[in-house]
Amino acid sequence: MMEEIDDHAIILLDTQGNIETWNKGAEKIKGYSAEEIIGKNFRAFYGEPDQEADLPGNLLAQATSLGKVYHEGWRKRSNNTLFWAGVTITAIHDDAENVIGYSKITRDLTERMQAEATIRTHAQHLEAQNKELEQFVYIASHDLQEPLLNVSNFVELLQQEYSQELDETASLYIDVIHQSTLRMRSLIKGLLDYSRLGKEKSLATVDCHQLIDTLKGDLATNLTAARAEIVAVDLPVITAYPIELRQLFQNLIGNAIKFRKAGTTPIVTIWAEKVDNFWKFAVRDNGIGIEPAYRDKIFLIFKRLHDREVYEGNGIGLAHCKKIVEMHGGEITVESELGEGSTFFFTIPVIY
Ligand code: ADP
Repeated sequence: MMEEIDDHAIILLDTQGNIETWNKGAEKIKGYSAEEIIGKNFRAFYGEPDQEADLPGNLLAQATSLGKVYHEGWRKRSNNTLFWAGVTITAIHDDAENVIGYSKITRDLTERMQAEATIRTHAQHLEAQNKELEQFVYIASHDLQEPLLNVSNFVELLQQEYSQELDETASLYIDVIHQSTLRMRSLIKGLLDYSRLGKEKSLATVDCHQLIDTLKGDLATNLTAARAEIVAVDLPVITAYPIELRQLFQNLIGNAIKFRKAGTTPIVTIWAEKVDNFWKFAVRDNGIGIEPAYRDKIFLIFKRLHDREVYEGNGIGLAHCKKIVEMHGGEITVESELGEGSTFFFTIPVIY
């Protein structure tokens, strides 16, 4: 059986590390035929520095004392090319527990090692690009504020000081410019907040019931005006980034109330359950619902489904929510029925 296996090199060594058997896998991985290698010492597979440090001898010594040893490293083929090997050496004993030799199983992990290295490089590259992009957004939105402020200040001056000299059309144009600068300011502020999000985050213990109670206070005017009700059930105490978590709940509850159905008392229900290593939170409303085609898009920055005249907003809230959940290592999703309501789910890993 051993001889036929061709994806693992399985060989037997005597107590000195001399090769006693050679299978198909060994021939395939290391390139030697059985005739060439049987009787030689397995030290031949190691490069010079490893031989000088007596890595092969140390591995045999460890296998003798521990029963078994695993090691990954570069090994030489017969043609002197290198491969990344995963090697398990196990001591073989006689009835009196004396070591009489070793079995050695080697796998060629070069592809896996290269794939891991590629993934690592890509991940580092992506992280660097992401940081650069966030920095860019931060600088751009920060620097855009100043000229915009100038525009809106001077438009206001025009309105105040020249209102007598401007005809109705000119006043209307100026009013449109004024409204647009206000909107642009709010968009830029949203971008700036987005790029700042989590910059100074620090983990703490958060009692989610307490958090919701505080939010009820903060949103009191909103809640009373909409005659909205918030029901929180079974919320845990978790480890999270408190400021960001609060913003997450605030955005979701705010949306649940904003996108309410005319003629229906808005009821927002919040609960959580433990699923594997995560807390899965749900924020359910009985509002207007979201069309299936838009359920992924709403998490994109500036993506909105409604006219600003009907429901005010910038389309940044859910992008914030996504960033906050992901910064905790969780995911956010939505389930919804048009005209019936929506439930936003998000997960936060349980940290003990
Ligand atoms: P904003 O609230 O500023 O429009 P968001 O990013 O918070 O921006 O939401 C994006 C869009 O997703 C909203 O414009 C709305 O169309 C939709 N949406 C979000 N929450 C709800 C909800 N609870 N019910 C229905 N639609 C929602």
